[in-house]
Amino acid sequence: MIVKQRRRSSKLKVLYYLLEALPESHPVVEQVKEEVLFSAPGERGEESLDFHLDYLDPPFLILHNLRLFDGLHYFQIDTLLMFPQFILLLEVKNISGELTYDTDHHQLIRTKDGDRVSFPDSIEQVDRQQILLKKWLRKNCAFSLPVESLVVLASAKSPVEITGDNRKEAGERMVRRHSLLSRVKQLRNTVIGEEKSMEELSKVAHRLKSAHEPYVFNYRERFKLSYEDLHLGVRCPDCHRYRMKWQQAKWLCRFCGEQSKDVHHYALERFSYLVSETISNREAREFLGIESRYIVKRLLKHYPLVEKGAKKGARYQLR
Ligand SMILES: [Zn+2]
Repeated sequence: MIVKQRRRSSKLKVLYYLLEALPESHPVVEQVKEEVLFSAPGERGEESLDFHLDYLDPPFLILHNLRLFDGLHYFQIDTLLMFPQFILLLEVKNISGELTYDTDHHQLIRTKDGDRVSFPDSIEQVDRQQILLKKWLRKNCAFSLPVESLVVLASAKSPVEITGDNRKEAGERMVRRHSLLSRVKQLRNTVIGEEKSMEELSKVAHRLKSAHEPYVFNYRERFKLSYEDLHLGVRCPDCHRYRMKWQQAKWLCRFCGEQSKDVHHYALERFSYLVSETISNREAREFLGIESRYIVKRLLKHYPLVEKGAKKGARYQLR
């Protein structure tokens, strides 16, 4: 049973919306594109695991994309599987090219098109997550179960070579996506722990879910941008220009003539990722380029109001 679903990370959404909102000639556009190229494969890799997890034998619980605070730092877990006898933490790597994992020098090297790039040691990374999770569970839930971890290589085609003195042990901790199920089965047969009831597991899983703190990607700090750098407002779905004007109960593009009744919802979603998750009537008038507060009120009626009662401070929750 999935207790916490995988959600497309807000970082990628911010990056995509940012590319829409930046003028094409803006100097940071290339940097934003690079960041998309860097972030997107990881997310695709995690999604590619779902098909395999569908075939796991019950009972178990799944939590995707957890970000927890240990009192000092945040730590992130791609996927957590909870079985009655143990907890399994999965760290997903989606790196294309030829991979060499060097256990002596603690690095993962990718060779692609003649280039060698060194990545941080993924096994060291899951070891750390494993320790932090154990501590977190003891401290926050007075709960203990053995915690195991695996690095899952999501790219089906990349050959992997493991070298160094600890290659045997490392080979057991690093699995390819398609062998994940058999490796999990093996662990279920070998890890011996005091069995917990599903009720108890579920309580802990929900505690973990409610402790999750989503990562907020601060694009303005990252790319040294201010709102003045961005096109905000309603963008034409056809010619992509910010030339949409609300008139006679619909949006009309003053450049290409495209019409729409609901393109403001898309614009407001962009606002929610680039500016704020809530919007006031006044901000919406400015953002949508509409003078009438009554028209704006009507366009926003689908969104729930927060701070009910206080008319001046009322804001609409955009997501
Ligand atoms: Zn247009």
